[in-house]
Amino acid sequence: MRLYDIILSSRLKEFEKRLLEMQISNLWYVTELTQCPKKHVFRVQYPHLKLANIVNARLLLGDIIHNGLEVLIAFRIPEARIEQEIEKKVKLKAYPNADFIIKGRADIVTEHYVYEVKTIKSINNDRKLPLDHHVQQLLAYLDLFNKDYGRIVYVVLNEGKILEYDITREKELTVEDMLLEQLERLRNKDYPIEEWECNYCIYKDVCDRVIE
Ligand code: SF4
Repeated sequence: MRLYDIILSSRLKEFEKRLLEMQISNLWYVTELTQCPKKHVFRVQYPHLKLANIVNARLLLGDIIHNGLEVLIAFRIPEARIEQEIEKKVKLKAYPNADFIIKGRADIVTEHYVYEVKTIKSINNDRKLPLDHHVQQLLAYLDLFNKDYGRIVYVVLNEGKILEYDITREKELTVEDMLLEQLERLRNKDYPIEEWECNYCIYKDVCDRVIE
């Protein structure tokens, strides 16, 4: 069996496992707190469109690098928890009749730190690192795991570099605030958050607000 087939079939199994969950509308993934909120709506409505990501070569490579780094870190820092899932039930004053769940999976969690590993193609001088949505994502994990420090690790494929950025928790920023902001954006049709999001969006063919 080809290595590629093994990786692909394990990604497919993971997708099938999550298919029902992806149709739950009051469940927000941590990544969805920091990107165009309409993607959350489309994920619930058209979960199968995410299948396209499974064969995306860049994402596949990103997965392999992730797994390699995680194995290395688990070996060097035995107490590190890898791919640590977390789930929090959330109530918002502005939506008293609704119950929300925020769910995510942090790459590496140690006693004091949360690490997020990101694979990027190259360093784009127009978009300063660390990228804002990656910082927001890590801040959400710091709140969820109740940790004060985090680090974003960028693996830059074309330049062959590893860049690391320390992020400190902002105690006043909670996942509840982030979720409320997303719900308000949806209500006011105030999306995408950044124009470039549409370029990389798997829902652009079904979206009536795509910015070309
Ligand atoms: S195409 Fe743009 S506006 Fe539509 S869901 Fe994607 S990112 Fe959001």
